[in-house]
Amino acid sequence: MPRSTVARIDPEALRHNYRLACELAGTARAMAVIKADGYGHGIRQVARALASEAPRYGVACLEEAMAVREEGLAQPVMMLQGPHEPEDVALCAHQGFQPVMHSDYQLAWLREAESTPDFWLKVNTGMNRLGFPADDLAGRVEQLLSSPVTKSALKGFVTHFACADDRESSFTREQTRRFQAAVSPWPELEKSVGNSAAHFLPGQELFDWSRPGIMLYGASPVIGVTGPELGLRAAMTLEAPLIARRVLKAGDSVGYGSTWVAEKETPMGIVAVGYGDGYPRHAGTGTPAAVNGKRIRLIGRVSMDMLAVDLSEAPEAQAGDRVELWGSQVGVDEVARHADTIAYELLTGVTARVPRLYL
Ligand SMILES: *Cc1c(COP(=O)(O)O)cnc(C)c1O
Repeated sequence: MPRSTVARIDPEALRHNYRLACELAGTARAMAVIKADGYGHGIRQVARALASEAPRYGVACLEEAMAVREEGLAQPVMMLQGPHEPEDVALCAHQGFQPVMHSDYQLAWLREAESTPDFWLKVNTGMNRLGFPADDLAGRVEQLLSSPVTKSALKGFVTHFACADDRESSFTREQTRRFQAAVSPWPELEKSVGNSAAHFLPGQELFDWSRPGIMLYGASPVIGVTGPELGLRAAMTLEAPLIARRVLKAGDSVGYGSTWVAEKETPMGIVAVGYGDGYPRHAGTGTPAAVNGKRIRLIGRVSMDMLAVDLSEAPEAQAGDRVELWGSQVGVDEVARHADTIAYELLTGVTARVPRLYL
């Protein structure tokens, strides 16, 4: 019998969240961002779950784009990091992948390739990771437009926000202003600026294509707000069985380093999940979990294959009962906060040892 530590994936929640993204995107269309194995949910299954609604997908790299095709899906796929090798360019053309070009070496590959994919130009408006300088775009664009082949293949412009998760920041407005100024000479070309967080910024312009990722999976893209508070539904429930139960006496400790010591008699349980499954080791005492519909808390250090929970709030719980580590009762955003990280890292970090089960 396999261990019953599993990640249950709810395709209906993915569709619900995608529809919310479409609603919030207004006149922009939303491409479903499914990179990093669908944020840990399984890229092929996520692509399929959204196939009848999403007109386009967004991925980081070629391998991820290929997974969409291998699933038999024909939508265009935007490759957010562009080609990594010269040979990638022709393959993109054959497969209908749209690379986002961020550097001159990629444009050189494009000119030398035997066939030319539809492509986008990344504009750096202040994130300063990738992209052509916003104030030095014209030469490159005019050169691309001067050749009939690249002219018909250039779809438009992409930029990425650094601070859209922070509703207090004015930087998203500034980046939008720089972007608009940079691309205004070519109004016939398309524009794409917004990640999930941008969908929740009042009055934010999203132009032609938005790029929701994390929100599709039900986690919050906004600082200080949870996914459910934004109307999102958890797409993943990480679940593991209680495999032991004991009662600690006052003064007993639990786990490595004996960091947690019982102040009074405490019923406690051992759950078969740990950092070897991608549960964050930094989630310390007090991190929430749930069993039998009741909220409980972690105690002591997370080990590789197990962790300990205080069963004071669920004294009836026994070996075999299923514990939710995150999902619809315990938000992944909450667990991330306790582990001093973000839901993105937790969801993408669930390891291959954990089977994904699709409802
Ligand atoms: C990952 C990514 C997105 C999606 O971001 P979320 O915050 O997950 O919505 C959008 N655009 C680009 C360029 C990305 O790399």
